[in-house]
Amino acid sequence: MLQFDRVSLSPESEALREQVREFVAAHRDHMPRPNSDFVTGHDAEFSQKLGQQGWIGMTWPAVYGGSDQSNFERLVVTEELLAAGAPVSAHWIADRQSGPLLLRFGSEAQREKYLPGITRGESYFSIGMSEPDTGSDLASVRTTAVAEGDAYRINGTKIWTTDAHRNHYIICLVRTEAPSENRHAGLSQIIVDLRNDGVKVRPIRNMAGGEDFNEVVFEDVLVPKDRIVGEPGNGWQQVTSELAYERSGPERFLSAFRVFVELVRICGDNPSPHQAAAIGRIAAHFMTLRRMSLSVAGMLEQGKDVVVEAALVKELGNNFEKVLPEIARLVVPDLCANDPARHKLFRETFSETLMLSPSFTLRGGTREILRGVIARGLGLR
Ligand SMILES: Cc1cc2nc3c(=O)[nH]c(=O)nc-3n(C[C@H](O)[C@H](O)[C@H](O)COP(=O)(O)OP(=O)(O)OC[C@H]3O[C@@H](n4cnc5c(N)ncnc54)[C@H](O)[C@@H]3O)c2cc1C
Repeated sequence: MLQFDRVSLSPESEALREQVREFVAAHRDHMPRPNSDFVTGHDAEFSQKLGQQGWIGMTWPAVYGGSDQSNFERLVVTEELLAAGAPVSAHWIADRQSGPLLLRFGSEAQREKYLPGITRGESYFSIGMSEPDTGSDLASVRTTAVAEGDAYRINGTKIWTTDAHRNHYIICLVRTEAPSENRHAGLSQIIVDLRNDGVKVRPIRNMAGGEDFNEVVFEDVLVPKDRIVGEPGNGWQQVTSELAYERSGPERFLSAFRVFVELVRICGDNPSPHQAAAIGRIAAHFMTLRRMSLSVAGMLEQGKDVVVEAALVKELGNNFEKVLPEIARLVVPDLCANDPARHKLFRETFSETLMLSPSFTLRGGTREILRGVIARGLGLR
């Protein structure tokens, strides 16, 4: 059964929103070309400033450098930063999922070692799930980690690894036991330092010309045994719970938000009926998706299982992100023809978003896979 609890933000959360807006306004120099896509801006200095504000690891206990706040406060901060086009990619994955994974399944020693650096905005993580020929079908990963004394010896290749060339650590899904009839057995997660001997990171250029993701090759990489996250063999359960964090946040429907901002700006106070209809259509989608994402944040706060609801937010949100530039394009050309210089920002964010948009429905799980998760959750398969 699908469940979306009705949730409203508290006055405290709305007050925090104002603080984030003031912070963003004071740091515009970090946003020369604002873009709402969470992978486009890697700015360590900006991440560290967010860390000083207590806006990374916001829901984590203070003992690890967190701020002991709720998922609602975290959502307010993330949506304001994305809407402004702030550069958040450096700490994004560590804050969104590596930290929560360690809090839930990691050892006390791992939490003490890794979490404070994340909350300071200094320590960055990658996700090591996908492999060549093994993206959607994660259970068939082939990278092995073989026990050898106090260490594991890792061999294999990960691919599409966002920011591995800039990050410090990668949490890899590896096979610690030989494949068996139970495809989900024998998988584990392990933290690897990306500067370890035997780790080779090769950037892959995307269609927009950016180098955001990579191929990461592990050749006889020795990693101490205490880097295994959770129980050896529990990797499948951990990875699937991690995906709920990966799929439900505002980044799954805000990637094209700057296109909307610039559209509204150039349409001005007297939009034509077509322009007004387009703006209203886009705004209505945003409001609905936002309520759904907020609802998932509320259910995460209560410790509920939100795998299906998170998949639905991502599926609807990603499709909308792809359609938004199309809706905008249909009402903008005349305006641009009249005054090209005035529409420079629109053109920049529009073309960048268009080039990135094929990835929206791939990263974090493809459209077909999400629809399968939703259908299963509804008891339809
Ligand atoms: C920008 C970007 C960043 C990424 N960052 C990371 C990262 O940091 N770490 C990481 O591990 N991965 C990352 N990925 C990889 C991403 O998770 C995979 O691309 C995705 O899971 C799909 O896997 P695949 O590319 O192997 O495609 P495949 O799994 O080969 O799928 C190909 C097509 O077949 C469809 N398909 C596959 N199986 C089924 C099925 N059972 N039923 C119906 N249709 C099916 C898919 O939907 C898709 O359309 C990133 C991808 C992108 C685009």
